[in-house]
Amino acid sequence: MSHRNLAALATALLLVAASAAEAKQWRYAGMHPRTGQPRDGLCHLEAPHVHSAAPLYADTLYRTRDNVYVFIGDPTPFGYEGPRHSYYGHHPVVLNVLVDIDVDVDVVEYCYHDGPHYHSYAPPPGQEFVDKEDVHFYAGEYPEEYRRENPKLVRVNTVYGGWNVPRPVVTFAPPPQYHGPIIQVNVDVDVRVGGRPPPPSREVIIIRDDDDDDDHHHGHDHDHGKHKKHKHKHKGWD
Ligand SMILES: [Zn+2]
Ligand SMILES: [Zn+2]
Repeated sequence: MSHRNLAALATALLLVAASAAEAKQWRYAGMHPRTGQPRDGLCHLEAPHVHSAAPLYADTLYRTRDNVYVFIGDPTPFGYEGPRHSYYGHHPVVLNVLVDIDVDVDVVEYCYHDGPHYHSYAPPPGQEFVDKEDVHFYAGEYPEEYRRENPKLVRVNTVYGGWNVPRPVVTFAPPPQYHGPIIQVNVDVDVRVGGRPPPPSREVIIIRDDDDDDDHHHGHDHDHGKHKKHKHKHKGWD
């Protein structure tokens, strides 16, 4: 093939790629981060609509139904200023309550935000929550789907860990009806997420009422760390 033919082919391929990119649209319903970067804020369109931009962090911040992306995360990093509800730990989210989609059976997804966080939405009806000091705790059992998706979806905490997110202040232990992970974010000890090491900014301590894990004693006395002292005798050159 001649150089000229190659160039023509390359141009044709570029045109095809460009028109494919133009044609690609992503369907959203409900409020969602405009780009996924906190500084770019939120899109407040509630009705189903399209954007030419793909959702950023789609696999952790969104759930999909019929190719419609629904943002279920904490909107706080994106400058959200509307009414908000305080939650602690993992809980169900019902997509057809959040947005107007036509279903016969509730579409139940799970939020994997560790520790205290905010949502723009109240706990969905038909799901069991207990409130303690205005913080919602899920009081039901976690199904198999929740456990199966956990390693992937819990990475939402890695995403948010890179942002400076104000959180509800929760200084008390969760009520006994809550069976999810008890992780106080931004305190002291590292926790591994999905088997991968956490980023340096993610510092987590696990507090539980019913065990003695709060004794984080790291004061090991390592004798092998001691150095023998050598006496340096300087013999003068004089
Ligand atoms: Zn939008
Ligand atoms: Zn949540």
